[in-house]
Amino acid sequence: MNAFKSNYLLAGFLLVMLLSLAVTVFLVYTGERMASRHSPLIDAAMEIKINATLGHLWFEEILSGDSNEDIANVWSYLELADWYASAMLTGGENEEGVYRPLKDPALRTQIESVRTALREFETIARERYANLQGSAPGSKIDQEFDMVFADFMEDADQVETHLHARIRNDLHDFRRTAILMIALSFGISLMTAYILGRLERQRQRHVIAIEQANTEIRQAQAKLNYLAHFDGLTELPNRTLFLDRLEQALAHAKRKTVFVVLLVIDLDKFKSVNDRLGHGAGDQVLRLAAQRLRKSVRSDDSVARLGGDEFTVILSDIDDQENAMAAATAVSKTILKELSTPFGFNGNTAFLSASIGIAIHPQDGLEADELLLNADHAMFEAKATGKGIFRFHSKEINERVKRQLRIENDLRTAIEQDQLCIHYQPQWDMANGKLAGMEALVRWRHPKEGLLQPGAFIPIAETSGLIDKIDIWVLEAACRQYRRWRDEGLKPGKLAVNISAMLFRRKDLVRIISANIAEYLIAEGELELELTESALLEDSAHTRELLEQLRRLGIQLAIDDFGTGYSSMAYLRSFPAKTLKIDQSFIKDIHIDKTADAILRSMVELAKSMHMDVVAEGIETAQQETFVRAVGCQYAQGYLLGRPIPADELRTLMISQADENVRLLPPNGS
Ligand code: C2E
Ligand code: MG
Ligand code: MG
Repeated sequence: MNAFKSNYLLAGFLLVMLLSLAVTVFLVYTGERMASRHSPLIDAAMEIKINATLGHLWFEEILSGDSNEDIANVWSYLELADWYASAMLTGGENEEGVYRPLKDPALRTQIESVRTALREFETIARERYANLQGSAPGSKIDQEFDMVFADFMEDADQVETHLHARIRNDLHDFRRTAILMIALSFGISLMTAYILGRLERQRQRHVIAIEQANTEIRQAQAKLNYLAHFDGLTELPNRTLFLDRLEQALAHAKRKTVFVVLLVIDLDKFKSVNDRLGHGAGDQVLRLAAQRLRKSVRSDDSVARLGGDEFTVILSDIDDQENAMAAATAVSKTILKELSTPFGFNGNTAFLSASIGIAIHPQDGLEADELLLNADHAMFEAKATGKGIFRFHSKEINERVKRQLRIENDLRTAIEQDQLCIHYQPQWDMANGKLAGMEALVRWRHPKEGLLQPGAFIPIAETSGLIDKIDIWVLEAACRQYRRWRDEGLKPGKLAVNISAMLFRRKDLVRIISANIAEYLIAEGELELELTESALLEDSAHTRELLEQLRRLGIQLAIDDFGTGYSSMAYLRSFPAKTLKIDQSFIKDIHIDKTADAILRSMVELAKSMHMDVVAEGIETAQQETFVRAVGCQYAQGYLLGRPIPADELRTLMISQADENVRLLPPNGS
């Protein structure tokens, strides 16, 4: 930039200097040329007059006899006068200077006439000198002589005057040219200064623009660098920076033989915050959670966000294993406490908890990848065994998690390989002891593990996003089976199918159900969908709309595992469910916990007041059956009354039911 500045300023300065120099040189040169041209001419004009006058004087003296002067001098004066005249016309040189021929035609004519007059004067002078007696003063020839001389002087004066006029003119022209040139060079200098000023301002603007662009580039680079290493939402280090820090901590630990603790923290039920309150609220919760995590550790411990609702904490430079475990436990407890405190923002409240997995270097992994994987497995275990807890990594956990991952992998192909099947658990009408319907419960004939119960794979299907496909398969298979029974003339009652929150969220749910109803000719009131409270609560507008569409299709709705979720009385009113299925945990506590009895009783009363049917789930003892009947449950389901059984066994049950018209003893199902 400075080079640019000095270059063009210097060029401008040089231009002005050169211009001034050129003008000066031109003026000096022109002035000198004028002087050298005019001065000899003026001199010559003077010389003509002087020499002619001297010749005249000497001649008169000689004639009057007052002088001893030689007449030859007179002739040489006259000759000299003529020499000057001819020098003015044709040029010449003597010791006084160089005479250049005059070009002006008028002046030339005048000089010619001066020469003529001079020649005439000389002719008369010679005549007089030859005839001295006849040329005495006052004689005719003397008078003629004086007249010719006077004519000559007049002509010579005119030449001189003319020459002076020419010099004046030339001087005038010179002055005008000089003024013009000085004005021009002044103008050019002004213009140059103006242009330079503009260029300078432009340059300054460019300099500012370039500096601004540089600043922006620097800021953009800083931002890119920030984005490459930090999470934009929580401002915590991201995965890349976290791995970098973990590797540094491990490298240091290897050199100094110290311990490093890695915590992987995953928020529980975070998805439901997003679903219930929207993604903006989800982001807010993540920001608050990040702040609380930072607060839970020392300033030199490293907190990062791996992505989604997963965070990490590195506690480094711990001198022994016992201290490492103590630090991991203390920090985990603080974090669990912090994250289980309700998150309040913008008038909303979100209740969360977290699951923490812990791995310690060196025993749980020497390298970053291994340590992270093991902490992840421990977190997975914490999630699977209750949530809101922390777990240290162990070999057993690793085995369990690996098995879970294997199951998840196998589950992806279970449907295509026809490994799923359904067991049906009868539901009984308490009033007449007859079969009121059945619940379709999925099973998996795993090629290596044998028959798997839903508990072993449904949670995995839920977290890995496979649950909706399983539900769709179960729905179709159960409806097909139901049609078969109907076609055989059996009376299966109501078919209950479990629907996951994931399938319930799908936009094409109504289309899937109508397709099954149409294909298997399912009549109104024959199909009941079982949904948990949490699935119903996710998006009330969508839920209401969906339930209305299902109602129009003649599909009934049951709220499954009632009492374990939010149990909000308000939503029972807003979502018209036909059936309330009281969770087994309440049945288990009958006669054991007095409050459980009271709660059960009031739940049944509440359902009845809302004209809902009540199903008591998990009846295992006769006392439980008696109690639920006494409090007014219309329907019952449980091992005492019938375990989930394959379709053909249920067929036998239905046939014998029709024959005997009495309730059978429970067969030995799964
Ligand atoms: P659920 O819908 O509450 O089903 C009732 C569960 O209680 C069944 O367990 C059943 O076998 C069990 N049960 C019935 N009577 C008794 C009893 O007297 N004592 C005890 N201890 N348990 C009893 P199952 O078949 O293991 O299913 C567990 C859960 O898996 C189901 O709970 C349901 O939430 C889920 N599930 C089953 N099949 C499906 C399916 O096709 N789709 C979805 N999304 N979930 C399913
Ligand atoms: Mg169910
Ligand atoms: Mg249930």
